Amino acid sequence: MPKAAYQPSKASPVVRSRAFYTVRLWSVKHSKGLEVIYRALAHVFLKLHPFWNFIGYRRAEKPVVFAEKFVKSFLFDCRMCGQCVLSDTGMSCPMNCPKSLRNGPCGGVRANGNCEVEPDMPCVWVEAWKGSQNMAQGDNIFKVQPPVDHSLKGSSSWLRATSEAAAEKNVENGVAK
Ligand code: SF4
Repeated sequence: MPKAAYQPSKASPVVRSRAFYTVRLWSVKHSKGLEVIYRALAHVFLKLHPFWNFIGYRRAEKPVVFAEKFVKSFLFDCRMCGQCVLSDTGMSCPMNCPKSLRNGPCGGVRANGNCEVEPDMPCVWVEAWKGSQNMAQGDNIFKVQPPVDHSLKGSSSWLRATSEAAAEKNVENGVAK
């Protein structure tokens, strides 16, 4: 479990609290179970695609963002970037990296695995690697992530992933016909 000595250094533009940091490390440690829950949730959201379509994805955005923010802020210290990669990064949110690196660590990781900007904090990518090792689809950590689209900040990743998965499914069905 997390090192009790951690104090947010305020050296990084990312404002964090000790409590959220503690839960964040717990989530990485339990990445295996969280991956199962994530897959089940994604499945349910996809099943609900006709419902989202009926009420309109745009209209669903506000309440879903509220729920998503509540859950993910608590579990992952989520920054609501709107393009979640948690399932590819061992349940360690890369937006907690002071440099917001989404494709692995910078060259400044300390010998003890901590961040060069926040010496008290383990590098989010060291944590990501640990978390990925527990996950069924842990090899996703090798995926190259596209650059962050800042225009999506504050939007729901859950709904975006759902509409993308539904579109993909439609294409597959179209090909099969
Ligand atoms: S990757 Fe983005 S959406 Fe996912 S937990 Fe981090 S800030 Fe939140």
